[in-house]
Amino acid sequence: MLKLENVHTHYGAIQALDGVTVEVNRGEIVTLIGANGAGKTTLLMTVCGTPHASSGSVTFLEQDITHCPTHEIMRRGIAISPEGRRVFSDLTVTENLKMGGFFLNSQEMATSLSHVFDLFPRLKERRDQRAGTMSGGEQQMLAIGRALMTRPQLLLLDEPTLGLAPLIIAQIFDIIRTIRDEGVTVFLVEQNASKALQVADRGYVLETGKVVLADSGVNLLVNEDVKKAYLGG
Ligand code: ATP
Repeated sequence: MLKLENVHTHYGAIQALDGVTVEVNRGEIVTLIGANGAGKTTLLMTVCGTPHASSGSVTFLEQDITHCPTHEIMRRGIAISPEGRRVFSDLTVTENLKMGGFFLNSQEMATSLSHVFDLFPRLKERRDQRAGTMSGGEQQMLAIGRALMTRPQLLLLDEPTLGLAPLIIAQIFDIIRTIRDEGVTVFLVEQNASKALQVADRGYVLETGKVVLADSGVNLLVNEDVKKAYLGG
């Protein structure tokens, strides 16, 4: 479904991705792990076209999207819940969700809203609450719900459990499974490597802009190098 081939991405003179080749198949949960600064966020953002790859190619549903503008990439069926959630604090839950679906017509908007409220009953309860007054876990649910408003085929999640309590982390991983079971393919970036590999069909390890390991989630969980570097020994 999604294929990055030999992708290089730069920020000016800084090279953040150095020849990355990664594939995500329809229906999978694929996890990308790596240390701070390895280039995980850059990889997801390169899929979204912000920034564009400086060389190599990004293909989605057999079409080359390497140089497409971000709004076009979103229209083709990719959505992202960014690192740090970035909800609009002064807007209500419903208003935030509507921002996610800004290019839907009113009927599509109503359908998407009710779908997101079914998936996240807490958001429905709090639909008139200002996002900035919600808990970290609720804001994360809102960020994921906002990404789902366009009914994407591929959902990119950047560190969805960062800074959350264990109980909420478990809920977020349950939601990720549910989203996949509803037919959305998930590409997940996580610091919480253990949980993220448990939920993943496959995973990649990124180090200083390069993929150094690719395997099933199960195999990565028992890999000695992964254990030492990312799973606390
Ligand atoms: P973290 O887990 O800390 O979020 P990451 O693996 O997501 O890290 P990136 O944020 O993709 O890593 O950063 C990869 C490299 O690119 C880092 O060296 C970072 O300093 C650099 N970088 C990221 N964004 C920019 C930017 N806007 N301008 C310049 N350099 C950047």
